[in-house]
Amino acid sequence: MQQIPTGSLVLREARPGGTVVELPGCVEVGGRAFVVMAGPCAVENAAQIEEAADAVAAAGCPVLRGGAFKPRTSPYSFQGLGEQGVRLLLAAASRRGLAAVTEVMDPAELPALEGVALLQVGARNMQNFALLKALSRLQRPVLLKRAASATVEEWLLAAEYLLAGGNAQVILCERGIRTFETATRNTLDLSAVVLAKQRTHLPVIVDPSHAAGRRDLVAGLSLAAAAAGADGLLVEVHPRPAEALCDGSQALLPPDLRELMRRLLPVLHGVGRELWRAPAQRMVAR
Ligand code: PEP
Ligand code: MN
Repeated sequence: MQQIPTGSLVLREARPGGTVVELPGCVEVGGRAFVVMAGPCAVENAAQIEEAADAVAAAGCPVLRGGAFKPRTSPYSFQGLGEQGVRLLLAAASRRGLAAVTEVMDPAELPALEGVALLQVGARNMQNFALLKALSRLQRPVLLKRAASATVEEWLLAAEYLLAGGNAQVILCERGIRTFETATRNTLDLSAVVLAKQRTHLPVIVDPSHAAGRRDLVAGLSLAAAAAGADGLLVEVHPRPAEALCDGSQALLPPDLRELMRRLLPVLHGVGRELWRAPAQRMVAR
């Protein structure tokens, strides 16, 4: 078993009080308030991301997600809109006062990602050490997803690369691991969430969408994540999932997101937390 060396920066002992990562736009992850980040798997076109952003803002979520540089299993699947996708995401987010999160697959993409509040390292790149080293030299928040087959120790050691290189603004994300179960896309590992919260001072959020791969499980897993002590969620929502270019079957519909935000409240209160609500004024007339 890989052991994290004593004295590592990622360990809880290094910062017993916990780390709060502040996203530009004043959203704090890792504090008392639970932060829901939501949006489509991928930015597909202007109308789609604008509609999705309306749904996210109307639900009171402070952060808009949307992939532009997409890591797809098949080279024949939609690869994302790249730089144009980033521009559409940032426009939709900034019009509504939302922070934006999107994936970075290669340091060469960083110039196009100026203005993105939170840089996501996807599960497939958790041990892309060249990428981690490049991000470690930035003073920008990074969302580090757990690889589908990584142990908690490996995940934390990947985070150590970021901290050791000088970037302390790291949020971890559990997104399901590969198991023998085929009824779900992955298996949400809530024990890893509880364990990571003990082992490290970094905030830990949960992606129930990629864990489940199916919309009907997303709310239940989200509530369980909140009860288990997660600091937030990364959840997929699409205005018309049937037309989505990727991951439509796991995308919530806009009313589902509003309902989820409502159902999170009593769970969060039960564990002494609050829900981070963005002011609900941010519907934009087009
Ligand atoms: C995503 O969030 O769109 C994504 C590709 O997730 P993961 O890296 O967890 O598969
Ligand atoms: Mn997806």
